Amino acid sequence: METNQENNVSEDIRIIETSNDSKNGQDKCPKCGATDISLNQNTGKLRCNFCRHEFEPEKISGMETDISKLEGQVISSGANNYNASASDTVTLKCSSCGAEVVIDTSSSTQARCHWCRNMLSLNEQIPNGAVPDVVLPFSVKKEEARASIEKFVGKRKFFAHPKFRREFTTENIMGVYFPYMLVDINAHANFSGEGEHETKSYYIGFDEDRQKVYDAELYHVEREFDVAISGLSVESSSDRLNNASKEKTNNIINSIMPFDVENVVKYNANYLHGFTSEKRDTSISDIKELVDTQSKDIARFAANDTMEQYDRGVRWDKEEFKIKGQQWKAAYLPVWLYSYQEVKGNKKLLHYVAVNARTKETMGSVPIHMPKLIIVSSFVELAGIIAMIFVKFDYKWAFLFAGVIYFLIMYFRYRNSNARHTYESETKKEISNLRQVDTYIKEMKRLRNSYMNGANNRRVEGTSVNNNIVKSIVNNKTIDKLTGGNIVADMIRDKANKRDKE
Ligand SMILES: [Zn+2]
Ligand SMILES: [Zn+2]
Repeated sequence: METNQENNVSEDIRIIETSNDSKNGQDKCPKCGATDISLNQNTGKLRCNFCRHEFEPEKISGMETDISKLEGQVISSGANNYNASASDTVTLKCSSCGAEVVIDTSSSTQARCHWCRNMLSLNEQIPNGAVPDVVLPFSVKKEEARASIEKFVGKRKFFAHPKFRREFTTENIMGVYFPYMLVDINAHANFSGEGEHETKSYYIGFDEDRQKVYDAELYHVEREFDVAISGLSVESSSDRLNNASKEKTNNIINSIMPFDVENVVKYNANYLHGFTSEKRDTSISDIKELVDTQSKDIARFAANDTMEQYDRGVRWDKEEFKIKGQQWKAAYLPVWLYSYQEVKGNKKLLHYVAVNARTKETMGSVPIHMPKLIIVSSFVELAGIIAMIFVKFDYKWAFLFAGVIYFLIMYFRYRNSNARHTYESETKKEISNLRQVDTYIKEMKRLRNSYMNGANNRRVEGTSVNNNIVKSIVNNKTIDKLTGGNIVADMIRDKANKRDKE
């Protein structure tokens, strides 16, 4: 197939400053001067824990709101400045007592001064990826998340590993802000190929030769349109991007998307108070290929919405996809997370049960007690073979696979290793200026396949690209270590400290 993906968007790059008045250090309540401020989950607003004053959430400004007008690369300052060798730890100076307070940004952007107990916040977008542009505050409470996780696991107890069943408790679930890149895309798609519409299906032949066949009409099909995609969300920590990880069930966290990203508010470290966070460690250049490929998948699925008559599928022979503009924001999105480490010999697998802390969407992986599942599947297999002997049915050979099918259904029900975010259909998009061509070519009779040969209009490419990208990021990180990235890290930390002292 001829594909044409022009990603050489002109060098037009615009950086939008989103941190403007953000200052590191003490963030004081305007009413009483206290620094103990955290999210009130009932209102979604920040609240002073001392005088109960509530703050109106801020929105970031300066970004393009009409995606169809996007041109070139628009990058918010929080999505831009990532330096792979910047240090995780940042030292702030307490303005009350002068003590130096170290924040480990790999899990937090706040720390309490040991001496005067004031809270110190990291709000400036220093280049270590810890401070994004926007945050989506937790709205699902811990108790609701616990109930949701218990319900999910409760339905998967029978084949669960006995050790897991004994140890399972939701007392220690964690509220985590994971880093994502939110991308808006303005693109133009031009697809052409052939599509088939079924007109009739019937049987031919007798007895052993009896076979179902199909008549269909063949059309030449073209779809050309503009597409505006909003809030495509991609993980921006290299660890989470790795959905095929052998050590962690990352696909579980991926699968609880989408979030209502249109409701993000301007980042403020106080939103993270009481929660943990995982910082971003990738740059736009690391994930651009993934975003571009996923955008094209979204366009392909948008075209499908205009082609319901081709019930046997469409085969695109030419797919042109041109990205005219892209807009990037760095975000923290909220997840309630239960994790369980399964140890099998010298292999370890971290199982997650995750709850989207906005929509309550829940997904998980439960360790399986394999001997039990295999024994039960064997009984099902035996029952299948007996049924095959006694039942009269055209496809009775299918009973031969009863045990295998049962095994697979249960395996996926517990492990959900195939779960993922179906971004191609769940991401918000709007198409406009649609040009359609549907030209009748010919009638085809007695086709043996129920679906068009070579149909490719429902394929998804953005999931396999993912694995290659993860590999390249890991390699770059190794190079970084070899070239002594630490010296640079020290320089940046010194600079951050100096700025703080001024
Ligand atoms: Zn106050
Ligand atoms: Zn202090």
